[in-house]
Amino acid sequence: MTRSVLALLDVRPAHTAMIAERYDVHRFDQIEDKSAFLDETGSKITAVVTSARVGMPVDLMDRLPNLEVITSFGVGYDLIDLEACRKRGVRVSTTPDILTDDVADTAIMLMHATMRQLIVGDDWARSGKWVKNGPMTLTRSIRDKKLGIVGLGRIGQAIASRAIPSGVEVGYFGRSPKAVDYTFFESLSALADWADILMLSCPGGDATKGIIDTQVLSALGSSGVLINIARGSVVDEAALIAALKGKVIAGAGLDVFDNEPNVDRTLAGFDNVVLYPHAASGTVETRDAMGQLVVDNLNAWDERGALITPII
Ligand code: NAP
Repeated sequence: MTRSVLALLDVRPAHTAMIAERYDVHRFDQIEDKSAFLDETGSKITAVVTSARVGMPVDLMDRLPNLEVITSFGVGYDLIDLEACRKRGVRVSTTPDILTDDVADTAIMLMHATMRQLIVGDDWARSGKWVKNGPMTLTRSIRDKKLGIVGLGRIGQAIASRAIPSGVEVGYFGRSPKAVDYTFFESLSALADWADILMLSCPGGDATKGIIDTQVLSALGSSGVLINIARGSVVDEAALIAALKGKVIAGAGLDVFDNEPNVDRTLAGFDNVVLYPHAASGTVETRDAMGQLVVDNLNAWDERGALITPII
């Protein structure tokens, strides 16, 4: 019997088409009367396709009594209740590793763009300020700066290996020390106090909610820069806005936000902040590879009850 798959979004058109060729796919985002659909079809669904951003709402999972597997597009799983999945024996896969390089490149891009004031400089050259006012204000060099990484996992390590040739020293904070030559800090405040650039590459979720707070931002200090490619939830955004207003820190480069896609307009008003629309993995090559891995995980489950990149 053809497996019934509930797709919570269109991962990539080509990959949604591949899934539809082989399975009986229902596009949940396109169904108008979701409750009536779940009453009629919820018990037939054995697999869900979702993404790190859409996650898996628990109330939806409750309506899928025969769910076996969730294949997610992305690496974060803070919007999937793993405990609820474990209790029900639902298996979950993500798309790790293949996005690491693009996300690390974006982190480095935001670090340079923030330190060297790329957006201000672009405007200076474009708008005629250069002609009218002369050279733009001097910026700060990356060389000899201390880069403090919060969460030295796959992406954090890729960021460190890219930053070191630019002449930075790396320190990090996480749940446990790693077998690396960088300095491990046992507290986040101590890392922030040491660092010139604080780089967030840890998971979102309850354990990291708001860990970048007023105290950590004060420790980072008035010449310090915050870069966040992790999750908006990791930063207390109100505290960040207050720190930027009060010049408690020097600037920020942000790919992720509290209430995406509704970026707080106050953040858009700071010229020492570089914004990017949660697009760190957003290249054609990486998104295609992620879409393929979602398909491959689904097929591996269908064929042999195994996942290629499981998290549980
Ligand atoms: P990973 O390999 O699992 O690395 C996560 C790292 O964070 C690990 O070193 C882990 O330390 C550390 N960590 C876990 N809990 C922590 C805590 N409570 N406090 C501090 N550190 C903690 O994952 P990854 O592939 O590098 O991805 C990291 C995160 O990047 C994802 O979870 C996602 O939120 C984010 N991300 C963002 C984008 C984007 O588009 N902006 C794209 C991909 C991923 P231990 O090893 O000691 O547990």
